[in-house]
Order: sequence, then C-alpha cells, then structure tokens
Amino acid sequence: MKLADRKKFFSRLQAINPEPKTELVYESPFELLIAVILSAQATDIGVNKATKRLYKIANTPAAIHSLGLDDLKTYIRTIGLFNTKAENIIKTCLILEKEHMGEVPANREALESLPGVGRKTANVVLNTAFGEPTMAVDTHIFRVANRTGLAKGKTPLQVELKLLKAVPAEFLQNAHHWLILHGRYTCKARKPDCPHCIVSDLCSFRRKTPADQVFIAFSRVVVISQNSLVVT
Ligand code: SF4
Repeated sequence: MKLADRKKFFSRLQAINPEPKTELVYESPFELLIAVILSAQATDIGVNKATKRLYKIANTPAAIHSLGLDDLKTYIRTIGLFNTKAENIIKTCLILEKEHMGEVPANREALESLPGVGRKTANVVLNTAFGEPTMAVDTHIFRVANRTGLAKGKTPLQVELKLLKAVPAEFLQNAHHWLILHGRYTCKARKPDCPHCIVSDLCSFRRKTPADQVFIAFSRVVVISQNSLVVT
C-alpha cells in the first residue's frame, strides 16, 4: 500500500475514534499487566468480569501474592487456561516484589522475563501503560494487516516489524488499538463486513464480502428470531 493510502487508511480510523483505548478495564500498570496475561485466548469481557472482583480484593503484587494460588484461582476460574495463568501470575508477583519494588518495569527485556509475559503482552503494556509506539500483533491485527496489504507476513513478528515501518509516524502510538477494533468489529474473521468498511477502497483483499451476502446474513437472523423467539 502506498504511503498516501496508508495515511488515508489511518486518518479514517482516527476520524471515527480519535482516542482509541483498550477494552480491558484497569487503573494501574499492574492491573493492566495482569489483565493482559489473563486475556490470552479469552475475551476482554470475560477478563473484565473476573478482574472486577479480583481487584477489589487484591490489586498489587503483594496483595495477589498473599492471596495465594488457590484463592486466586477462585477469581479467575471462568477464564481459559486459568490454572497455568494463576501459576504465572503468582510467580510474576513474586518477581515484581523482589526485583522491581512492586512496580511494573517499563522496559521490554524485564517485562518479557516475567512468567506468562511474551512479546505481545510486553508490547501492550509498553504501549498502553507507558506510551511507547509498539505494535502488539494479536489475531485481529495479523488478519487485518494481511488482508488489507498493509503488512503481509507469515508470523506475528514479521507483521509487527513490517507494521512498524508501514504505519505513518503520526499514527503509530494508536495504530494497534485502531487495527484491533477494526478487526474485531468490521474485518471479522469469518465474514468481513466489507460493504460497511470505511477503508474498503484502500484494501487489497480479493475476496471481499459482497453487499448481498451481508443482507442474506441479516435476513437469516430475522427469520430465526421469528421462528424461535430468539432475541439476538
Ligand atoms: S474491505 Fe473487507 S477485508 Fe478489507 S479491511 Fe475492510 S472489512 Fe477487511
């Protein structure tokens, strides 16, 4: 995609959402870190439900550490892989207490050394809590970047490094939020909503969803609702 088109692409996403934010609820870098660890293969809504209860009881490394593994699990057991995540969180809290005076470190190397924290999680924390222009490539960004032609790659790291070069500098800080939201609500995995997509003319995806298919999908929802009184 040419530079002029990349600028148009992000200008439009910016116009409809000038100050994009993560959908995870948090009030400190530590709360964000734990929420992001929990969000792997889980929905933000599910994570927010769990952390809302957990953070009332414990929202610091010391408090979660003293809560202990078994009690921590009772707060997060609705989240996938909660056993492993609970173990990682307890270990992470211990390291934060011992090596970082209970604070979340603001550098990649220290973040990635924490149990349960990989490159993507570190990127989210660096961007959202510390304002660094990082690119946390999740499944939505990976899909949008490849479909649109913004940054084609076979691995999240390839896409991340290409996006860091492709996104015009003035949009870099917020780009990952815009791309995630675009992938989550418009450029969806199974049936992208191309007829209502504001960057459709800039996107190089060859199998765009035709307008009549969006209409068929809508009609089916109505019929199902009438026959079975399902409220969608
Ligand atoms: S036109 Fe379709 S495939 Fe391209 S970005 Fe928009 S929703 Fe995604």
